[in-house]
Amino acid sequence: MINVSKLNKKFDDNTVLESIDFSVEKGEVVCLIGPSGSGKTTLLRCLNVLELPNSGTITIGEKKVKFGAKNVSKKDISELRAYSGMVFQGFHLFPHKTVMENIIEAPLTVKKARKSTVLADGEKLLKKVGMFEHKDKYPDALSGGQQQRVAIARALMMNPDVMLFDEPTSALDPQLVGEVLRVIEELAKEGQTMVIVTHEMNFAKRVADKVFFMDGGFIVEEGKARELLEHPKEARTREFLQLLG
Ligand code: ADP
Repeated sequence: MINVSKLNKKFDDNTVLESIDFSVEKGEVVCLIGPSGSGKTTLLRCLNVLELPNSGTITIGEKKVKFGAKNVSKKDISELRAYSGMVFQGFHLFPHKTVMENIIEAPLTVKKARKSTVLADGEKLLKKVGMFEHKDKYPDALSGGQQQRVAIARALMMNPDVMLFDEPTSALDPQLVGEVLRVIEELAKEGQTMVIVTHEMNFAKRVADKVFFMDGGFIVEEGKARELLEHPKEARTREFLQLLG
């Protein structure tokens, strides 16, 4: 479903991702872990082309884009982007739109889908994330956990092959983390392909098929979730996991 080859990303002279290679199969859940500044968010943003890689190749679904040699066209970027849906740390809902208006916006304007179809999809997905009864509320009337569940439904509305989550619970009060993780766990059970940046190691152990440990712009170690988290091979992975307790 995803193949990344020799991906490099710099911000000015600062190399943030160096020769990243990995693949994710359909239905797999991958968690990206690692210290702050190791490049996890940048890698996720490259997959959605919110950051433009300096070089390397990204393939998602049927779309392959090679970065670097010549300018990548807007068409290539939007075709690649259409395969993934992104959920951010800070929800990013439209404040002046209701929950339902937030989630139907993209399918109506981007896909030009029929409103009755989109509303039916919206109802289904809001029920799935437990937010249907709040459909007419504005984001500021919702808790952070509720806003994040709406953000997940909004990303799902575009029917993406891959869901990308960037620390989806790190802006939440501890008591609201569980409701968001449960929704993501449910998606995992349904076979949704996902890449998740997270600091929630117990969650990673439960839902991830594979875990990638990143440090200094490299994937230092990758492995099956339980194996890597319980028996890390690399010293840097061990140190990181020990620090977390
Ligand atoms: P992580 O998600 O692992 O905390 P990031 O991908 O956010 O790491 O950041 C990796 C490195 O890239 C850091 O050194 C960070 O300062 C730098 N960086 C991230 N975004 C930008 C940006 N927009 N401009 C310049 N440097 C950036």
